Amino acid sequence: MKYAIYGVNRIAKDFMYIFDKTDIVCFYTDGEEQAWMGLPVYKIDDWYKVEKNYDRIIICDIEKDEKRKKLENMGLKYKADFLYEEDFFMSLDRYPLNSCAKKMIAWGAGRRAEKLAYFYGLDNIEFFVDSKEQGLYWKNSGKKILLPDKVDRWDSYFVVITVAKSDSIIKSLEERGLIHYRDYCTLGELLTQPSWMLKKTIFDKNCYNVECRTIFNHVELNQTGELQCCCVPFVIGRIGNVEEGSIESIWTGIVHKIMCLAINNRTYSFCNSEMCPVFIGRERNGKIDLINEYMNIEDFPRNLLVNFEDSCNLRCESCRDKVQIANGKEYEKNIRYADLLIEKVLPHVEFIIMAGTGEVFVGKGYERMYLSDAMRKVKWIRLLTNGTLFNKQNWEKFSKNKLGKIFLTVSVDAATKETYEKLRRNGNFDILRENMEFASQLRKSGKLSYFRMNFVVQKKNYQEMPLFVQWGKQLGADEVFFTKILNYGTYSQDEFFEISMMEEDGMTPKKELVKILDLPIMKDEIVDLGTIRYSHEPIGIDYIENYYKWELERKVPHLFE
Ligand code: SF4
Ligand code: SF4
Repeated sequence: MKYAIYGVNRIAKDFMYIFDKTDIVCFYTDGEEQAWMGLPVYKIDDWYKVEKNYDRIIICDIEKDEKRKKLENMGLKYKADFLYEEDFFMSLDRYPLNSCAKKMIAWGAGRRAEKLAYFYGLDNIEFFVDSKEQGLYWKNSGKKILLPDKVDRWDSYFVVITVAKSDSIIKSLEERGLIHYRDYCTLGELLTQPSWMLKKTIFDKNCYNVECRTIFNHVELNQTGELQCCCVPFVIGRIGNVEEGSIESIWTGIVHKIMCLAINNRTYSFCNSEMCPVFIGRERNGKIDLINEYMNIEDFPRNLLVNFEDSCNLRCESCRDKVQIANGKEYEKNIRYADLLIEKVLPHVEFIIMAGTGEVFVGKGYERMYLSDAMRKVKWIRLLTNGTLFNKQNWEKFSKNKLGKIFLTVSVDAATKETYEKLRRNGNFDILRENMEFASQLRKSGKLSYFRMNFVVQKKNYQEMPLFVQWGKQLGADEVFFTKILNYGTYSQDEFFEISMMEEDGMTPKKELVKILDLPIMKDEIVDLGTIRYSHEPIGIDYIENYYKWELERKVPHLFE
């Protein structure tokens, strides 16, 4: 079937990017006649005169009424002679969600529920359900939080599961007679349904005047096999799951392509502008130039972050109650994921970050990766560790046979023994201090190309922020990096508000924190306030090839050369 597109605009361009196998032969416009995207463009008023070498017209526009009226006045009929671009979107879905168009409720009131509210719209959620007592309303929004037993008529709602470990919730929903996809789905399934994603970005009216290409070249693998293409709190969700398809097919798949479209058309519809620093000081109102070339996904990811192991020697208060070391099926899965990455991804990777979860010097999957031959040629290796095992022996094992530069980031979160051992349970501050001295020597001797110390700010440690900066300076750290604590389901709403140093909006620092942030030492050049937006300057550049590289190069320019 051949088509003409009625509309010379960004919507048409987006449509052609996604439906690139659709045979488009020409365009119609209400404006001036000209060639566009290598095809002829005719005035719609000349429709009678133009030879029809197509079967149907596709209307591409946000407001379609005028175009529809024009076509109908010419005697054309919807569906028989013309269609809307939206009519094609559902063909991208593997399964229909909420086919009975029921009102939506969210099971889970934590961080993932925030993601749902941010991307899907709070207005679209009737109320929240949580198994723990969470207070009456969700984040003072007026939307109720109910215990599961208090929900009447489960079958009258479409349930979106917004907790990471969903097995027991799924079981309970199915016991209540609910059916997957028709009556419930997970957050990941909802937010990566292609037809919804495409609607969201293609009809997004605003865009940002910035180009961040991270999504085109970066991949992350998490514990449940999900692949992401930017930092988890920053973007909408997974591009696929390695348990359901090959890495190659996910990387070149439709979900990833639509995410890339949202960068090409500058809507950034799947990026969280409240979390990602790229958006600081930017207005969402730029207009994209129609001659701007849309880029394709790169053949393979060049940047990899591994997040697939939970094993760790600590049991930090914000993370877990007991020490977890993978065994049995979990161990086997970690080894399987390591092998998958070693075989399919590492040969193409220039920059690896290990690891976003668990501890590199404990997880056997991580060990398998860093000891593999494929790591030898990786140009840049960023090691993220809790530092308690960063000693001479482990350093020698890790750095052996590596040709690339090594960057170190240590998550510390405290500057005194008392606070450290309270927050980082099982950790020994004296050992950590020794290891940090060792890291400092490695940096000074050039064996490490970069050394950063991380600090997640919360009530129990915020007063130690200035001391932490002083310590970083003594050690010769390139950067001390502060971020706000996030709730991944460990705390109830009330507990979290008590612990967090942010106001209810999650963005504004509480006044006690402001006092600390205003101290002169907090303006030192090695300080970065990460997700604490207070006094952040706009980033001042309009092109970012990869966020993770850019983030490091702010303190150490030319690190990736
Ligand atoms: S770093 Fe780039 S791709 Fe990632 S959320 Fe920010 S703007 Fe989007
Ligand atoms: S060091 Fe990291 S992974 Fe280990 S318990 Fe603490 S927060 Fe969790």
